[in-house]
Amino acid sequence: MSAVMIPKKSTRKWEKLPGKNTFCCDGRVMMARQKGVFYLTLFLIMGTCSLFFAFECPYLAVHLSAAIPVFAVVLFLFVMAMLLRTSFSDPGVLPRALPEEANFIEMEIEAANGNVPAGQRPPPRIRNVQINNQIVKLKYCYTCKIFRPPRASHCSICDNCVDRFDHHCPWVGNCVGKRNYRYFYLFTLSLSLLTIYIFTFDIVHVVLRSVDSGFVNTLKETPGTVVEVLVCFFTLWSVVGLTGFHTYLISLNQTTNEDIKGSWSGKNRIQNPYSHKNIIKNCGEVLCGPTYPSVLDRRGLMPEEPSVSTPGASDATATTNTAVPPNTKTTAPLIPNEHTPDEAKPSIATATASIPTEEKPSSPRDFSPKIGPAPIVVKESAH
Ligand SMILES: [Zn+2]
Ligand SMILES: [Zn+2]
Repeated sequence: MSAVMIPKKSTRKWEKLPGKNTFCCDGRVMMARQKGVFYLTLFLIMGTCSLFFAFECPYLAVHLSAAIPVFAVVLFLFVMAMLLRTSFSDPGVLPRALPEEANFIEMEIEAANGNVPAGQRPPPRIRNVQINNQIVKLKYCYTCKIFRPPRASHCSICDNCVDRFDHHCPWVGNCVGKRNYRYFYLFTLSLSLLTIYIFTFDIVHVVLRSVDSGFVNTLKETPGTVVEVLVCFFTLWSVVGLTGFHTYLISLNQTTNEDIKGSWSGKNRIQNPYSHKNIIKNCGEVLCGPTYPSVLDRRGLMPEEPSVSTPGASDATATTNTAVPPNTKTTAPLIPNEHTPDEAKPSIATATASIPTEEKPSSPRDFSPKIGPAPIVVKESAH
């Protein structure tokens, strides 16, 4: 008898990621868990376009121009490409802290805050950084155990912190954030054009055909036209309005989240530190700025064996001078974003004010903070 060696199936990191996302195609596609409204979006777009291609296009191609259906097909394909690109991609999810890092951050926050008398609330976990002469608050995420980089926020539906979080969009079945915002905007823009296009040529078709065979006969011959006109009419207001709203936000370099919270207006009276004060520059940065790689490493392989837990590892002091081997990481390192001032980068994940440098333990990711918590004066020349 010979023992048969069964190869152990390797686990990809997406299978172990926390949060409420769903994955398919072995981690290549990433979406929110609730997808019902996304399927409705697909149904409405594909259904309306199919009716247009079936009922109006043959008549319009013969009586007006063959370019009408051709342009409709190009626009339809562009809309679908932008929709799927927005829906299936990582919107900019930030990896959660590893247990060792979470322990380390907790320990340092407690050390920085000192002993809070019983019955008193501990101070809020906030760090201040200065960006373009404006003080920006970085909040601690109790779920992800990180100080969120500037403009990041936690999506309660996906249960993840997302960089440059705009909003969670059920229509595209995904968060809209730093990595898919421009595709979301191009989707709304092209869908507006497609809706106007189909609506206009529906009307043109009815008028032309009514001259030949009468209005009532036209509607009887092409029953799809009525459905299309109704769908396009109600879609027009919402989609064109949404596109206008996002054009306004882009011109100010502002997110929906910041707009709703009134981050740069109202009671806070803080100027938007990310705006270039120039519409062209703001549009250029949002729509043509650099694209950012995903920091989740979804398709990376998990280490073969789980790391052996060190006795006393739950004790925060046990992390002193203990570097975590790279292959035990479940996520990429905590990466400060492009708005994070250089001087603040090491201190965002660690509160360091009251700990003398010699006594500071090393972070598992080897942060070696050298500066106090805030405000950190930085002139952000990149903006
Ligand atoms: Zn979070
Ligand atoms: Zn979300």
